[in-house]
Amino acid sequence: MNLMRLLGIDTLRAEYAYSDDPTLGYTSAKRSADRWVKTTCGYCSVGCGMELGVKDGRAVAVRGQEDHPVNLGKLCPKGLSEHHIIGASNRALHPLLRRDGKLQPVSWDEALGTMAAKFRAVQGEHGNNALGIVRRQLDLLADDN
Ligand code: SF4
Repeated sequence: MNLMRLLGIDTLRAEYAYSDDPTLGYTSAKRSADRWVKTTCGYCSVGCGMELGVKDGRAVAVRGQEDHPVNLGKLCPKGLSEHHIIGASNRALHPLLRRDGKLQPVSWDEALGTMAAKFRAVQGEHGNNALGIVRRQLDLLADDN
């Protein structure tokens, strides 16, 4: 342990340093990205376009894609916190299926097959129009042409 920490005068300067980021302005140096990577928000089915700020190989910030036809640069609070979940220790890395009340890891084939069977069951009982989807951005772009 260093002497300043022992004396109780350690301000953790490196941990709480600020920087003047060209995108975010005056902010925590830990959130100042080296580069921005375009992607799509993975939280809900709206499909907002976002850019992840990456620093030292880790996602540290997020911003909306200004030219994206779905969200025009805006993100909701969930999207704005997306960079926090990427490195989360409890993040789901494979499909899970509930069996006997307990979530268990399964293959993608089994997960997709189960989902398709459940969709077919709903349609079989209530008709094909019982299910709907949100159109993807590519569909919206195709409509403009
Ligand atoms: S930013 Fe919000 S509305 Fe847009 S896709 Fe993500 S969760 Fe959905």
